[in-house]
Amino acid sequence: MERRRRPATGRRGDPARRAEVAEVVRAAAAAGLRVAPQSTGHNAAPLAEQGLRDVVLVRLSELTGVTIDEEARTARVLGGTLWCDVVAAAAEHGLAAMHGSSPDVAVAGYALGGGLSWYARRHGLATNSLVAVELVAADGSLVRATAEDEPELFWALRGGGGNFGVVTALELRLLPIADVCAGMLLWDRERAPEVVPAWTAWTRDLPESVTSSMRVMSFPPMPELPPFLSGRRLVVVDGALLEDDGRAAELLAPLRALAPEMDTFGRFRQRDCRRCTWTRPAPLLRSPATPCSATSTTTR
Ligand SMILES: Cc1cc2nc3c(=O)[nH]c(=O)nc-3n(C[C@H](O)[C@H](O)[C@H](O)COP(=O)(O)OP(=O)(O)OC[C@H]3O[C@@H](n4cnc5c(N)ncnc54)[C@H](O)[C@@H]3O)c2cc1C
Repeated sequence: MERRRRPATGRRGDPARRAEVAEVVRAAAAAGLRVAPQSTGHNAAPLAEQGLRDVVLVRLSELTGVTIDEEARTARVLGGTLWCDVVAAAAEHGLAAMHGSSPDVAVAGYALGGGLSWYARRHGLATNSLVAVELVAADGSLVRATAEDEPELFWALRGGGGNFGVVTALELRLLPIADVCAGMLLWDRERAPEVVPAWTAWTRDLPESVTSSMRVMSFPPMPELPPFLSGRRLVVVDGALLEDDGRAAELLAPLRALAPEMDTFGRFRQRDCRRCTWTRPAPLLRSPATPCSATSTTTR
């Protein structure tokens, strides 16, 4: 059954680039090739596993940009935009986005796939903060999906990843969170038998204002790393508490009682993100010459 689709409006985004994406998709279809969108390549492994034969890789890394609507508390981000740019732009307005732990992950892959943010236990998955998704569909048409227009496509996109087209823009709801208590606690790996069950027990009764993760990490000896990481095997608990300082200290007390060797929890203003040294991602589809430098196992 043919469905009438409402075209994405031309007044927003970057029409030239969107038209370029549409052209690539149409050309690929005409040549009998498949299309794989990619923003950063952070999650490139599944693509490689499926095989890239007869696939046109559409890199969105240059289709970036953020516009904040302070009154509506929404952000409009172009298809290849990184979280660091959204967090910084939202912070200018005292707002927070549903970002995760890494500044150089792109909004598209993260939000389309679910997106577990530091505010997840209270505010849900980032995918549910999406209010609109614009994409180039398989036939090369530009589509705007919202709860009202293309509701089934909008439903499928939220969790369905990049399977329904090349996303050229997303609109997402922001949260009125200007600052947050956040940080990490760190122990040597030897303390894992004590710390891991303590963290697990701690999470059972926590209010939904707290989202945290626990990782067991191994770092190779590298001069680029600070001494507290280089060559170390560590247990790291990090997270965010949407609480005032007093209540946050009360909630963190059981973990602090385990005497972490490092404790960075404190009040953190979203605006300060701009001062962080956030690096851009390495070249897409990383080459063997730039191997991942650390291994970690995360539980959240
Ligand atoms: C250091 C690090 C920390 C992380 N922390 C978290 C976290 O805290 N919470 C969390 O939930 N996840 C986290 N992740 C996982 C991350 O959300 C996923 O790896 C995500 O898929 C990355 O999205 P990407 O667009 O950057 O990657 P890509 O590899 O470019 O894309 C991932 C998938 O999304 C699709 N895609 C990307 N862009 C588009 C587009 N414009 N249109 C259509 N499809 C597209 C791709 O086809 C691919 O299937 C983390 C990952 C890393 C590397």
